[in-house]
Amino acid sequence: MAEIRCTQKIGPGLYVVATPIGNLADLSTRARHVLENVDLIACEDTRVSGMLLTSYLIKKPLVPYHDHNAARERPKLLAAIAEGKAVALISDAGTPLISDPGYKLVAEAQDAGHYVTAIPGACAAITALSMAGLPTDRFIFLGFPPVKTKARQDWFTAEAGLEASLVFYESAKRLPDCMQDAFTALGPRPAAVCRELTKKFEEVRRGTLEELAAHYAEAGAPKGEVVVVIGGAEHYKSSETTELETTQILKVALEHMSVKTAAAFVAELTGARKKDVYNQALELSGASGA
Ligand code: SAM
Repeated sequence: MAEIRCTQKIGPGLYVVATPIGNLADLSTRARHVLENVDLIACEDTRVSGMLLTSYLIKKPLVPYHDHNAARERPKLLAAIAEGKAVALISDAGTPLISDPGYKLVAEAQDAGHYVTAIPGACAAITALSMAGLPTDRFIFLGFPPVKTKARQDWFTAEAGLEASLVFYESAKRLPDCMQDAFTALGPRPAAVCRELTKKFEEVRRGTLEELAAHYAEAGAPKGEVVVVIGGAEHYKSSETTELETTQILKVALEHMSVKTAAAFVAELTGARKKDVYNQALELSGASGA
């Protein structure tokens, strides 16, 4: 069998190229071919991307394109494409546009009628889903959570009814507080902390949010980069949800919602009878008059 080679002709246009998230060997054959043949490469940090390109012996002009200069640089990149140049967009790691800059550049290139294509590859969120051992038939990617406790708990609570796995990025140093807030808002759902994916110290720690919150409270913030996957609301629908668990969820819900909303929400989540949950919510909130 012949060795796989990429012979794609690289004409004018925008090439959105995924790069590795740790393991440098994860650059695809086509990604390498495109980066070798474009006229210039727009990247977040020229030092970070310079190292990747050096390791592949690729020498191309690098243009910084990040949140702080995008408005200024975008017209220049579009003008270069209009002049017939092939421009690649990469980010520091993984798939551009996924919690990284680029969507406005893609939109404007599309609107201008330029050729736009993507070279798929590594993405931390998808890699985490591949390893977490949680349902992947429905998932929602949430980006990064807010950094303050109240905002973060509200952010989780807003997704509490969703029957889909929740996937998000978090800085390692905020992970202990984040897991505690996730447990407070969502209860003891199954979850996985996926760390240093594709790298030497790759680790997937699975457990309920309660167990994971306790672990990181004790062990402290881990090192490296982290993706968290949390099971969706369907995990509460089983008949295994005990009365005790229902009460615990209800208590948390009552901290954030009215009695009526909390009762409806918890009944939906646990499959318990609405009327029973409502009566219990009245009791717990002290509004029953009993
Ligand atoms: N565009 C990238 C992608 O496709 O995954 C994500 C960029 S986002 C600014 C960076 C975040 O992705 C990190 O803070 C971390 O949460 C996650 N991440 C990136 N690489 C990772 C890795 N090797 N292991 C775990 N998480 C990673």
